[in-house]
Amino acid sequence: MSQTWVDVPAGSGFGLRNLPYGVFAPQGGPRRVGVRIGDYVLDLAATLDDPVFASGSLNAFLAQGRARWTEVRNRIVMALTEDAQRSRVEPALHPVDGVRLYLPFEVADYVDFYASEQHATNLGRMFRPDAAPLLPNWKHLPVGYHGRAGTVVASGTAIRRPCGQRKAPDDAAPSFGRSRKLDIEAEVGFVVGAGSPLGDAVTTKDFREHVFGVCLVNDWSARDIQAWEYVPLGPFLGKSFATSLSPWIVPLDALDAARVATPAQDPAPLEYLRESEDWGLDLQLRVRLNGELIAQPPYAQMYWSPAQMLAHMTANGAALRTGDLFASGTVSGPDPSQRGSLIELTWNGAEPITLADGTTRKFLDDGDTVTISADAPGPEGSRIGFGEVIGRIEPAAR
Ligand code: CA
Repeated sequence: MSQTWVDVPAGSGFGLRNLPYGVFAPQGGPRRVGVRIGDYVLDLAATLDDPVFASGSLNAFLAQGRARWTEVRNRIVMALTEDAQRSRVEPALHPVDGVRLYLPFEVADYVDFYASEQHATNLGRMFRPDAAPLLPNWKHLPVGYHGRAGTVVASGTAIRRPCGQRKAPDDAAPSFGRSRKLDIEAEVGFVVGAGSPLGDAVTTKDFREHVFGVCLVNDWSARDIQAWEYVPLGPFLGKSFATSLSPWIVPLDALDAARVATPAQDPAPLEYLRESEDWGLDLQLRVRLNGELIAQPPYAQMYWSPAQMLAHMTANGAALRTGDLFASGTVSGPDPSQRGSLIELTWNGAEPITLADGTTRKFLDDGDTVTISADAPGPEGSRIGFGEVIGRIEPAAR
């Protein structure tokens, strides 16, 4: 691949091989779709003279499907590499520090999986100490639940500490109030572009036809609310108050060099969950609390691939819609430094972590800022950056 005429800093995760999509507004201007290159955002409506990118959301473009996604990517590469286009395209570049970034797409349905064997094992040990940590279904299907699409928010949105009903095992009765166990879940999200008809199952082979790209997710979780409410129907208000999304959607086309096999699956999954291609992904996540690195979860260790999640999610004929988001579940690796939630890092508060300023945390305090970032290998030794998903905790409303 040729070089871009844009000045991209050495080591940037946003070179020509990445080109992630987002929605931005220049100072005083309307929202539009752009791609990131180096420290700039390229206005696509202006560059490609195409109104689909002036809508302030990626959805119209997502709905156009794989052939169109590839065509547009090729045209963007030409615009950023051909010297003859430079004078025309350069005015459409905006310094990323000078624009406002928004939620990149309208979320249709939101499903959250539970695909890390380490995370599921750790939580099983904490919540069911007298039983096998993994429930009998876990290695036969990607466990998941439907979340709340309307409370998926852009990175940077303040997260108000939720109130709810909670009852610790020793409490005589439940009470209502501020969550005392507010937590994060560092996850990877998959964005559905092309939908599917009601009644049709989408196979693992069709993953690339439906899924446009990948982003970062922080699935904020109130553990005390969750622990009391989740039996027998699963997560509800302990999760639905907010889920934060990174501003950049990295297209699948940028991730070929990051594809790896999932860990060996034993027992072998049922036929509809088998894959002819590898869709494990070698993303390295980093979790920072008030700027301090507290965990480095490795996505490559995830037991179920996103293609398997998609096949399972539609195995009953449930339709896909443009803008559907499914998240991987908390990414946790085997080493304690690789755990993607505070409940695991502090073992449900039994082993608080000490920060550089000398304070300790079992869970999040008001005023805490959590930043999740990631990168992955790109072609020809490049790195593919995912940017950051950031959220700061505000005090509860009462
Ligand atoms: Ca989750």
